[in-house]
Amino acid sequence: MANLIELKDFNKVFSTEEVDTHALQSINLTVEKGEYVVITGPSGCGKSTLLSMLGLLDNGTSGLYRLGEREVSGLTASERAAVRNTDIGVVFQSFNLISDLTVEENVSLPMTYRKDISKAERQKRVDDALDKVDMSHRKRHYPSQLSGGQQQRVAVARAIAGSPLIILADEPTGNLDIKNAQAVLALFDKLNKQGTTICMVSHDAEVSQHAKRVVRMLDGCIESDRSQSEAKVA
Ligand code: ADP
Repeated sequence: MANLIELKDFNKVFSTEEVDTHALQSINLTVEKGEYVVITGPSGCGKSTLLSMLGLLDNGTSGLYRLGEREVSGLTASERAAVRNTDIGVVFQSFNLISDLTVEENVSLPMTYRKDISKAERQKRVDDALDKVDMSHRKRHYPSQLSGGQQQRVAVARAIAGSPLIILADEPTGNLDIKNAQAVLALFDKLNKQGTTICMVSHDAEVSQHAKRVVRMLDGCIESDRSQSEAKVA
């Protein structure tokens, strides 16, 4: 199967006047289309940095990053924003919905910056995405009128509506109670079964159970990279 993501000898150093922090060191990672990968490890090991590099929020210090057919290392901020908008869907721990936009306006917003999606097509995608996450009945509501679990489902709809190559999720259940967390994880399971590629950061062992592959990090390095069945044995 084709690699969707390829990181090769990838490094990220945060430099301040006093200290250089080697947040990512010689990372080699490939993710294929259709995979469900969880990145785990102790606090400070580099999980969020890795996800933000994959999400093109920033450039690495050195190394190669290929996303789909494209080499994306060293792009400018506006080039990265354009790739992010078409190819990457992001789900955050804190939902990040815009409070004065309705549910459907939130899901629609990222697509309004895309010239390749007409207004009619955009509305269709919004409706389909809200249908997939079972939130169509709340499309005229505002985020404050929804539970945390419902807000996260809307955030997932926003991430998938643009048909990105990959969904990146940073502790997506971190702000949810157990029941809502399970509902959101069930939704990710369903999306993955339908072919969506998912890369999720979580320090929660129970969340990791949902992924088919577990990448464990330590001190900026990949300590192990196993399929779920191997990870259970170890
Ligand atoms: P995790 O998500 O596993 O908790 P992070 O990726 O947030 O870890 O952090 C990895 C290391 O990089 C930590 O030592 C952290 O302090 C450092 N770090 C993260 N972001 C920055 C930044 N913007 N500036 C300086 N150091 C940072």
